[in-house]
Amino acid sequence: MPHTSHKKLIVGNWKMNPATSAEAKKLARKFKRAAVTLEHTEVVICPPLPFITICSSRKKVSHFHMGAQVASTQEESGPHTGEVGAHMLRDIGVEYVIVGHSEQRKRGDTDLLVAARLKAVLGQGMTPILCVGEATRDESGAYLEALKNQIKASCGDLLKSSAKSIIVAYEPIWAIGAAEAMKAEDVYETSLFIKKVFADLYGADMGLKVTVLYGGSVTFRNAPDIIAIGKVDGLLVGRESVNVPGFVELLKAVDLVG
Ligand code: PEP
Repeated sequence: MPHTSHKKLIVGNWKMNPATSAEAKKLARKFKRAAVTLEHTEVVICPPLPFITICSSRKKVSHFHMGAQVASTQEESGPHTGEVGAHMLRDIGVEYVIVGHSEQRKRGDTDLLVAARLKAVLGQGMTPILCVGEATRDESGAYLEALKNQIKASCGDLLKSSAKSIIVAYEPIWAIGAAEAMKAEDVYETSLFIKKVFADLYGADMGLKVTVLYGGSVTFRNAPDIIAIGKVDGLLVGRESVNVPGFVELLKAVDLVG
């Protein structure tokens, strides 16, 4: 299901948190309660795999969706020990899957693997959230070339008809888990650059349509400016997404931006 609405998309990447299923259930319950009150915002939570089922609901909750942090490149069930197929995630109600997060790239995900995961997720009709971002910035702007190459390689040989469904999460690695987020003005500049890369790859209309999120040390305090000044379509939130008061506040604050 591609994200085509004009609403803001807030994705909570819980990473390897919390420690127990009871805590996960409690977090999800609080976030569902917050999500139903929103008018201009959709929420996706991405708990660790063992907690996805306990966090989802049998009944549809308005503005609330389930996501996963990873999917296998294997498209069919079979002898793939340790792997979790995209078809299995779809079967338990997952709609969005994070692909190519820098913490996974650091553990060995190459652009080739990322491209294969993207394909597997798209093949099941789910929406991949493709994470890209430079490790460092330099005065000469070489990081922009690196970012462009990373996007191109991660998309691999995807056709435009599939690429249309991708959400891009721009996550400068130096801003993840940091003390401060990137400046909202810089988020704006880089998100425009990412849109231009998509326009070059798939045509001008894709540059206008591609959904771009920002991720990296987002909190309830900086989120409204990143949305309003950074002009991104939403946020990928790590630490703050498992902090109940902070994440609920963030959802409310972003919703007010409209
Ligand atoms: C992330 O890991 O995707 C992330 C954005 O983390 P944090 O918000 O904690 O920087």
